[in-house]
Amino acid sequence: MPLEEIGWLRSGACKSSDPELFFPLAPSPAQEARAKAVCATCQVLTECRSYAVRAGEADGIWGGLTPDERRRSRLPASLPGSAAS
Ligand code: SF4
Repeated sequence: MPLEEIGWLRSGACKSSDPELFFPLAPSPAQEARAKAVCATCQVLTECRSYAVRAGEADGIWGGLTPDERRRSRLPASLPGSAAS
């Protein structure tokens, strides 16, 4: 990923967090909730979420969304399983 595309990451609330919280080897609901709580305080959440959805980031919590949540947000609203259904 080009640095200029993710320069906002330097302002992310996660910059001093343990990477394992956002990219766990064994994801769990508790870990996801803790990561999302950090994202909820983040001043660049919108940029982060937009980038991750657009780039198709397959792993980790980005912009307060899990991989499945990002995948569903990319589906047309009319399809079963989309974020709007
Ligand atoms: S939204 Fe979450 S993952 Fe993205 S930069 Fe902020 S804290 Fe990090």
